[in-house]
Amino acid sequence: MKKKAKRKGPKKAAKKGQKKYVKKIKKTAKNRTVQKSAKPAEYKTVFISLGSNVGDREEYIEQAITLLRETPGIKVIRRSSNFETQPQGRKNQPLFINAAVEISTNYSPQNLLELLQGFEDTLGRDRSLEWGPRTIDMDILLYSNELISEDNLTVPHPLMHERLFVLEPLKEIAPNVVHPILERTIKELYHDKKAEGMESEKYDEDLPGFREVKRGIADDYERW
Ligand code: ATP
Ligand code: CA
Ligand code: CA
Repeated sequence: MKKKAKRKGPKKAAKKGQKKYVKKIKKTAKNRTVQKSAKPAEYKTVFISLGSNVGDREEYIEQAITLLRETPGIKVIRRSSNFETQPQGRKNQPLFINAAVEISTNYSPQNLLELLQGFEDTLGRDRSLEWGPRTIDMDILLYSNELISEDNLTVPHPLMHERLFVLEPLKEIAPNVVHPILERTIKELYHDKKAEGMESEKYDEDLPGFREVKRGIADDYERW
């Protein structure tokens, strides 16, 4: 009988990757003059991901975008379509609606995070279960080309390039934006990830264990 390829659980693998990613950000930040927000009033381009899988999911996404639009200091530049996606990490939960928005803002990264968490609370976010069902999740994906590694905030979002449900909507509104660490465009990251998924499906079937040695972005990620 064919043996199934052993794979790390998604959460464990993600956590491991995340640790390496934070290390990589710190290292890169050291070797680079990080642009500090010298002028607090300066507007920066920021990309935010939105996700909902509880109740009227489209409505929660709309409400979240309306809250952003109504906030002085935030201009919503464009938004993606809504994409229905399978839950990741904790699979046994309803399908998600995911979207991405581009904003221009004079909020600092920390103030923006606080604002988004306030919006999540306003829209009834329950935080009792990690990666559990949520009325709304709002993550900062990219904040200009800044690298941020603070206890409560990592930017670029450490798992964005690993998640098709993030890359697909983002690609729609920002295909040519470059990930400041991976130095690849969102379009490229999306296609890499998509190809990787297709490869792994094939190799899982035909050559169990091959996934571990295949080339591509997952390897780069592992080397960090
Ligand atoms: P994931 O981060 O894997 O997408 P999640 O969105 O479900 O998981 P939350 O429970 O919403 O996780 O947030 C957990 C913590 O992540 C927050 O309290 C926040 O401080 C922190 N965090 C770190 N980096 C970011 C970021 N770029 N955007 C939003 N939250 C972040
Ligand atoms: Ca999230
Ligand atoms: Ca979040």
